[in-house]
Amino acid sequence: MRQRDAVHAAIIAVGTELVLDGRSDTNGVTVARLLASRGIDARMRLIVPDDEEEIALALEDVQRRFQIIIVTGGLGPTIDDVTREAACKAFDLDLQEDRGVLDSLKERCRALGREMSSQSARQAMVPHGATVLPNASGTAPGLQLTVAGTSIFLLPGVPHEMELMMRDHVLNRLDVLGLRAGSPRSVSRALKVSGMTEVEVQERILDLLGQPGEARAIDLTLLASPAEITVILRGAREDLIAHAFERVRERLGRAVFAEDLDTGIEAAVGRALEKRGLSLAAAESCTGGLLAEMITRVPGSSSWFTQAWVTYCNEAKISLLGIEPALIVRHGAVSAEVAEAMAEAARRISGASIAVSISGIAGPSGASPGKPIGLAYLGVADRVGTRVTRHLFAGDREAIRLFSARTTLNRVRLECLEAGE
Ligand code: ATP
Ligand code: MG
Repeated sequence: MRQRDAVHAAIIAVGTELVLDGRSDTNGVTVARLLASRGIDARMRLIVPDDEEEIALALEDVQRRFQIIIVTGGLGPTIDDVTREAACKAFDLDLQEDRGVLDSLKERCRALGREMSSQSARQAMVPHGATVLPNASGTAPGLQLTVAGTSIFLLPGVPHEMELMMRDHVLNRLDVLGLRAGSPRSVSRALKVSGMTEVEVQERILDLLGQPGEARAIDLTLLASPAEITVILRGAREDLIAHAFERVRERLGRAVFAEDLDTGIEAAVGRALEKRGLSLAAAESCTGGLLAEMITRVPGSSSWFTQAWVTYCNEAKISLLGIEPALIVRHGAVSAEVAEAMAEAARRISGASIAVSISGIAGPSGASPGKPIGLAYLGVADRVGTRVTRHLFAGDREAIRLFSARTTLNRVRLECLEAGE
C-alpha cells in the first residue's frame, strides 16, 4: 500500500477519441506540468473512453491510492459526456440540479440570443456535496469533490478551458487544502542538445548523477528525437538539481541550445542570428521547405529570415539557383559540389549574411551505389566562405528530413557561436 505522507496525483483523461482515434492527451501533460509547478508529483495518467462504467472503475481504483485526482473531459452537454454520472456511480452520490449553474447557463444563452436546450441543462446537474468551479471561457463548470480524503477535480476537456480552470481554481484550492505544504517538491530542469547521440550525452554526464546502484538523488530522463536530445533532471531538492544542472550544462558545452522544454532549435538559431544582426536564407531539396516552415513558426523570424527556395528537381536547381547543369551531371544532385553551389547561389541572390543548403536522399527509394538512403550534404555559406558537411542519417523518410533540417540549423548556430559573442 502506498504511503500517504507524500502527495501524489493521478490524472484521468476522458475521451473515446483519445483511446481509439490517436488524438493526443495533451491535457494530461498540461495538468502534470501545472501540478509539478506546485511540487505535486503526478504518478499516473489514465486515458479512458466516454463510458460511464470505465470512468467509474478508473475513479474507484485511483481514489484508493491517490490524494489528488484530476479528471478532464466528458462534462459537456451531449449524451457522450458522462463524467458526472460516472463520479456519482463510483462514489455512490446523487446528481442534483444546481440552481446557480442553471441560472448562469440560462444567462449565457440569453446573452447569445438563444434558447437553452434541455441537453444543455444537463450541465447544471451536480453530484451531491460537490463544489462548482466556474468556467470563465466555456459553459460546462468544473466540479470538486472530496471522497475519503481524496480531492477530486472534474474539469472540461477543451484544452484552454481546462488550463484556465487549473490555474484559476485547482492550484489555489490544493494550496488551501495544504496539499502543497510539506510535500516533497518535484523539481525539474531541462536542457536540449543537438549534434550528439543519446548515448553520447549519457556517457558524458552519467557520473555527475551518482554511482550506479546508489539510490540516486537525481532522476535522469533522456528523450531522443532526430538531431535533438532532451535532458531532464528531476529530484526532490532544488539545490541538488540546480548544482547538477550547472555541471551537466558545462559538460555538454556548445551542444546545448536550450534550457527549457519549449525552445526548438529554430528559435535558438533565431536568437543567435538576431543578437549578431545576421540574416539567413536557404536552398532546400530533400526537406521540401521543412526548414523554412520551422523557421517561420518562430514569432519575429521576419527580422532574420529572408527567403528559401524549394529546388526539388534538377531543373529547378538550374533555373532558380543557376546551378551549372554540368555540375549536376558530373557529381549528382546529392553531392558536396552541388550543396556548395546551392548555398553560394542562395547567399548571392538573397543578399543574406548566411545561406544554407540541404541536398540528401530521404528514401525509401532513390538510393544508388555509393549514395545510400540517409546521405545528406549540408552547406553553409557566409562571408568567410562555404563549408559542406556530409552526413549519414538513420531512420525513415520523416526522420531523415528532420535530421537534415535541424542539423543544418544547428550548424548555423555553431557558426554564430564561433564568430564570437
Ligand atoms: P465540454 O468541453 O463541452 O465540457 P468535454 O468536457 O466532454 O465537453 P470534450 O467534448 O470531450 O470535452 O472535448 C472537447 C475538445 O477538447 C475536443 O476537441 C477534444 O478532442 C479535446 N480534448 C478533450 N480531452 C482532451 C485531452 N485530454 N487532451 C487534448 N484534447 C482534449
Ligand atoms: Mg469528450
